[in-house]
Amino acid sequence: MSNEKLQKNDENEKCGDAEAQPIPHFSLLISHLLKKYWGYDDFRGIQREIIESIGSGHDTLGLMPTGGGKSITFQVPAMAMEGICIVVTPLIALMKDQVQHLHHIGIRAEAIYSGMQHDDILRILENCIFGGVKLLYVSPERLSSSLFQTKLRHMPVSFITVDEAHCISQWGYDFRPSYLEIANIRTIHPHVPVLALTATATPTVVQDICDKLSLHASDVSPQTSALRAQSFNVFRMSFERKNLAYLVSHTNDKLNELIHLFEINEGSAIVYVRSRRHAREIAEHLSDAGFSATFYHAGLDHVQKDERQRDWQHDRTRIMVATNAFGMGIDKPDVRLVVHYECPDSIEAYFQEAGRAGRDGQPAHAILLYNNNDHAKLEKRIVDTFPEKDYIRQVYEHLAYYYQIATGDGYGVAREFNMEEFCRKFHHFPIRVHSALQLLQRAGYLEYDEEADNQARVRFLVSRDELYRLEQVSPTEERVIISLLRNYGGLFADYGFIDESIVAQEAGLTPPQTYEVLKALSQRHLLHFIPRRNVPYIRYCQRREDAEHIQLHPDVYENRLTQYRERIQAIINYAQSDDKCRSRQLLAYFGETTSKDCGQCDVCQPSSANTTDALRQQILTLLADHQSHHITELARLPYPSKDIDTALTYLIQEEYVLQQEGQLTLI
Ligand SMILES: [Zn+2]
Repeated sequence: MSNEKLQKNDENEKCGDAEAQPIPHFSLLISHLLKKYWGYDDFRGIQREIIESIGSGHDTLGLMPTGGGKSITFQVPAMAMEGICIVVTPLIALMKDQVQHLHHIGIRAEAIYSGMQHDDILRILENCIFGGVKLLYVSPERLSSSLFQTKLRHMPVSFITVDEAHCISQWGYDFRPSYLEIANIRTIHPHVPVLALTATATPTVVQDICDKLSLHASDVSPQTSALRAQSFNVFRMSFERKNLAYLVSHTNDKLNELIHLFEINEGSAIVYVRSRRHAREIAEHLSDAGFSATFYHAGLDHVQKDERQRDWQHDRTRIMVATNAFGMGIDKPDVRLVVHYECPDSIEAYFQEAGRAGRDGQPAHAILLYNNNDHAKLEKRIVDTFPEKDYIRQVYEHLAYYYQIATGDGYGVAREFNMEEFCRKFHHFPIRVHSALQLLQRAGYLEYDEEADNQARVRFLVSRDELYRLEQVSPTEERVIISLLRNYGGLFADYGFIDESIVAQEAGLTPPQTYEVLKALSQRHLLHFIPRRNVPYIRYCQRREDAEHIQLHPDVYENRLTQYRERIQAIINYAQSDDKCRSRQLLAYFGETTSKDCGQCDVCQPSSANTTDALRQQILTLLADHQSHHITELARLPYPSKDIDTALTYLIQEEYVLQQEGQLTLI
């Protein structure tokens, strides 16, 4: 169990009907179950309060930092209560892990997610109606399927768990439209309570989660909706991480600073970057400098992702350079260092990613590398994320040309989307097209799924006779080919979807071995193998409109733009301010205002001799043209202002620099 140090806040924020006491029997039962299945003697933090709240039928919201023991809070009551617990979570990897773990300890659990065969989904849903399954994990995208909803009506549901609940809030940084379906699901079982869990939520987002998950929240007046939100019991665990030192390092040479950091720090590390290209380049650079490093982003295929993640997880690779695609559901306890090479666009994202360091409770560092270019880049992200409305309309129109869809047609049409090709054809920049598509999705015109899970595909390039006549085929290759032929018809005529794990099982190989064999066969042109990967696709949710009729409601555009600006400003403030403990700044953002100075961040610890030298040097360089410069120009240097003041005072006293009426000149 990690993070024993996480403390419960003194004052649990509790609103609403706190009178209803859980029956004592339930208290004993959950302790008994915890011991029997999980082997623990007692609950920790706010686990028991959350479980008793849901057990007594209350809608409940639990704010727990990652590593706070979240899964116990729904798995235990699922066992204690009659019926089946529905768990909504966007993390497929986490779903699979948890189901496997539950089976291991003797609990019946199932999961359904995109990419599964229809027959399998049907069988699982039937089992959930008749067969004593205690937990059913579903991805939010499945909730709207009529098959799921029909079957759900017949399930004896105990309660609904909403994991990553901040995704339902449009004020959150990670809003996902499919989460809104959860409110509709509640109308199927109106008496079943909801347990919402999240590790990142500002006070505004907490309120919004309660509103959105309340029954009929959307069709009542704001006042009534606020009252309904009150019916949630809210439990909050402090987000303070005592073993984690947050630092902001102001530097104009990030690459060297990064290398320096790995020279002076030991242990497993993650470096977060903003682009796939950066992930690759920086990993290469670190490797060249003699460090063990690899990279990870959404564009890699599944086998590559799994391999790299495993190597890192088992310390065969020390440094993972990654985009934000890396980390969801990953639980490596001994990460010592998380570096942000580039600034994320919200405190929420920063806090979550930085929080992956030091889950074992041992000292760890979270370092943000920052300079004035970052400020400009963050400002530019506002324009990139919210392009002009006319531009959005233009992208919509070009999309119709791209797919050749006439006005009035197109309803329900779903196609793969090749961003590169689209941008080349219509002279667009990917970032802005991406934003335009997301806004069009939010406005209800399209569905844009960047990471739709596409199964692997295979087609034989030689005839069946030629295949049988081949001589140089290894026994493993032969087993893979036989398995393909036995399970899938028509592969000589056209590409067919295959399930690599089935082929692997039959051939007596692991999935990575099967992948290698298929790649080798592909290289020898015996077949063509397209690995399983995430392919973006677009679906028209409405008939194609004329571009000028595209409506972008304030809730889709202006209001969200305001929110986004505020988030960007918050992270800029965090990076640039130097007068308040970093840990306290972060906690205050999430509504915790009672914390104490951490004593280990760059604000609590005065700057090192190194930065002092570098700063003096930079001031001298600025004045090296022997012109006079106004003192305000120094504010542009990437250092805390108190350090700049100190350095300047030193240079004046030592008579390197002359100051007259706010003008500085070199002596
Ligand atoms: Zn501090």
